[in-house]
Amino acid sequence: MIYDLAIIGGGPAGLTAALYGARGGLKTIVLESSMPGGQAALTDIIDNYPGFPEGISGPELMTKFHQQATRHGAEFKMSEVKSIDDQGEVKRIVTGEEEIEAKSIVIATGAKARKVGVPGEEKFQGRGVSYCATCDGAFFKDKRVAVIGGGDSAVEEALFLTKYASQVVIIHRRDQLRAVKILQEKALNNEKMDFLWDSTVQEIKGNSKVEQVAVKNVKTGDIADHQFDGVFVFVGTVPNTAYLKDVVELNEKGYVIASDFLQTSAKGIFVAGDVREKFLRQVSTAVGDGAHAAMAAERYLGGIM
Ligand code: NAP
Repeated sequence: MIYDLAIIGGGPAGLTAALYGARGGLKTIVLESSMPGGQAALTDIIDNYPGFPEGISGPELMTKFHQQATRHGAEFKMSEVKSIDDQGEVKRIVTGEEEIEAKSIVIATGAKARKVGVPGEEKFQGRGVSYCATCDGAFFKDKRVAVIGGGDSAVEEALFLTKYASQVVIIHRRDQLRAVKILQEKALNNEKMDFLWDSTVQEIKGNSKVEQVAVKNVKTGDIADHQFDGVFVFVGTVPNTAYLKDVVELNEKGYVIASDFLQTSAKGIFVAGDVREKFLRQVSTAVGDGAHAAMAAERYLGGIM
């Protein structure tokens, strides 16, 4: 069996590519290492995806994406892709268990949380250090937690954590947030939230779980220990592209470089979503990418591109 289109990654970009590919009559398979939905499925409320005026929960939206792609005939397989052997007209996708052959590929493996890289971070992961507020927030009912970072993720997840925690303190390395204005305003006006500006985390400390965080004021150089029960890290993302080395061109940060048609440096291999070098990483832009990449693959298969 040779698939027309294999999509690697089942987040919003991959699920949209699957919908467009399968609906366009391509024999389509999606390879996903865990549950469909990607990072969006770990988001409490998605407030800026059009069509849902009150917002929609990430898991619910991703379930709908999955159902729609399935209804149009896309196949799904839970397996982790290890490498791609690009033989030209046929591409071999090597997973832990088998090799899957396809005439075209859409790479949609997204990105994962970046670590802040301080002592204690690894030791206390799962014992107070977390990268997912939706997954772990409920463990911190009436506790004091720190959030590291100042972007959309940090502020959005910090706001979510105020549902549970008694206090949420954002520790940010500058004196202003990077997050969009609407999130900034919500955070600055939330009485459960506090801020440590111009501050970086030096160490996460404790015995069997997180108890203290050593924070340095980058302007004064002073370092002080603060009491926290949990630390949520949102300092950006790194692309999931380790398996693509020597297959397609990546930029210096590891994101996949593509043409306007979302064609990578390898013929017949397209890219969509957060894994692509681009300006704006949102569910709405992932959806546009997914549709675009699948249609470009269809043209490629028809010999038009
Ligand atoms: P991001 O926008 O890259 O922000 C990362 C934040 O972490 C920045 O504030 C950065 O500080 C800080 N940071 C980076 N490295 C650090 C370090 N080593 N130590 C301390 N702080 C560090 O990443 P993101 O917030 O994860 O967002 C990723 C993408 O997803 C963005 O395009 C974002 O817009 C999008 N997103 C959108 C939504 C939404 O629309 N609702 C929600 C979540 C994410 P500086 O500000 O000083 O650089």
